[in-house]
Amino acid sequence: MTRTLSEWSEAAAAVDAPSQLFIDGEHVDALSGERFAAVNPATGETITEVALGGAADIDAAVDSARTAFEDGRWANLAPRDRGQVLIKLAGCIEDNAEELQLLETLDVGKPIRYSRRVDVAQTVNTYAWYGEAADKLYGEIAPTGPHALGMITKEPIGVVGAVTPWNFPMMMNSWKLAPALMAGNSVVLKPAEQSPLTALRIGELALEAGIPPGVLNVVPGYGETAGRALGRHPFVDGITFTGSTEVGKLFLEYSAKSNMKRVSAETGGKTPNIIFADAPDLDFAIGAVGFSIFWNTGEMCIAGSRLLVERPIYDQVVERVGEVADSWAPGNPLDPATKAGPVVDDAQLQKIIGYIERGTEEGARLVVGGSRTLTETGGYFVEPTVFADVRNDMTIAREEIFGPVLSIIPFDTQQEALEIANDTRYGLSAAVWTSNLARAHTMAAGLRAGTVWINNFDTSDITVPFGGYKESGFGGKDKSLHALDKYTHTKTTWINLGRGGV
Ligand code: NAD
Repeated sequence: MTRTLSEWSEAAAAVDAPSQLFIDGEHVDALSGERFAAVNPATGETITEVALGGAADIDAAVDSARTAFEDGRWANLAPRDRGQVLIKLAGCIEDNAEELQLLETLDVGKPIRYSRRVDVAQTVNTYAWYGEAADKLYGEIAPTGPHALGMITKEPIGVVGAVTPWNFPMMMNSWKLAPALMAGNSVVLKPAEQSPLTALRIGELALEAGIPPGVLNVVPGYGETAGRALGRHPFVDGITFTGSTEVGKLFLEYSAKSNMKRVSAETGGKTPNIIFADAPDLDFAIGAVGFSIFWNTGEMCIAGSRLLVERPIYDQVVERVGEVADSWAPGNPLDPATKAGPVVDDAQLQKIIGYIERGTEEGARLVVGGSRTLTETGGYFVEPTVFADVRNDMTIAREEIFGPVLSIIPFDTQQEALEIANDTRYGLSAAVWTSNLARAHTMAAGLRAGTVWINNFDTSDITVPFGGYKESGFGGKDKSLHALDKYTHTKTTWINLGRGGV
């Protein structure tokens, strides 16, 4: 059903947002009794006060997850049965799609036209995909000879702590929870403090779908307290993290200082989007540039924040990207016509404005945008912003802004493009636009990035792994069957076949 702005506004006014922690299958207040405001970034108004999880609540959640894991209520189910429950969860999410769509839009300002089509749809697909895969994986027998049998099997690691960001809350959570649960683990999820609402609701739906109490716990709270407590907990066996590089490194430290738990981190990016003069369809490429940096208000780890353009088409591309930027002007996220909403909160707004000022101070040329906008709404809106004549050593080209700010950098040769592209501490993704097949392959091989798009941007699918090189990622990938490596141990069992040993 397609709703109008006024219908969505009415639904928003009546929304019943979840507000308690979800531990051991129960809704509970924080042990401290404290709460924090879930704020709508489009208005600055409080949606609801959510229980503020702290270290003691994390303890309770880990206890519950540990008990659930040890007694096998989930881990010892047949894989097919776990898979059926995940498929049922996908169905429950679909049945409650409109509510989840609205909660996501209110919590993080995501345009309503995308929160169903992208976030809910991808979340449903992820749970269903892992559910379907659950009973289709086999162990191995090693080719060791006749005297003994070497069996190689996969086992769940135990209690997984998932710590996640706010830019695609429901979807990123599903990339963690679905494979972790499929493999038989119990999970404690600490969503970002900016985006607790859909995480709490999915916890409830998981119980409804048949995931036993204690197997999935959801504890919203601040990173420095609840996140840290999970990272340092001695009975957590693994952390799956998505967020900034700085916090990803902290989890390595937490692990080192506690029980050497395994850590996987999907972290920041500064994606080079490289357009050669022989790009096969420049109109399409320029449209994709707009999408790459202005969609989701640029709050994307893969945002194409550095646009490298070959000199002969440089002026033309700068002008046309400036025009495209105007089509991404932000608006009310509840309006189905809106393509870009606010940024997530005031801190993010100030950070982005600070980078824009720095860009001008360091000599980049501001082509369009550059200011806060729609201040009368009380929300945190930023104009789509384009800088040209950027050098790769400027702050706006080096640091992750995580906002709608594009830096355009000219280049003269393929080698120079490759050097600029790789001259970054990040390595999440890269894109190349060219009709030269040899150049496409050479660039793809030379780019130090986990994903390379040739003549497209942000094509993605649950069947392919996602994750970065360098300081964009550590310890495994999200999505696809490769994600299971993060949530399983590989066990070797030797069986003596009674022929005198090996
Ligand atoms: P963040 O690192 O500030 O927060 C991520 C999570 O870590 C949140 O749940 C937060 O509460 C928690 N956290 C914060 N400080 C902590 C601490 N001291 N100890 C323990 N936990 C702590 O990141 P963010 O602002 O939520 O998200 C933006 C970042 O996420 C960007 O850098 C972006 O590139 C990255 N990101 C990466 C991917 C990817 O797949 N590579 C995807 C989305 C976002």
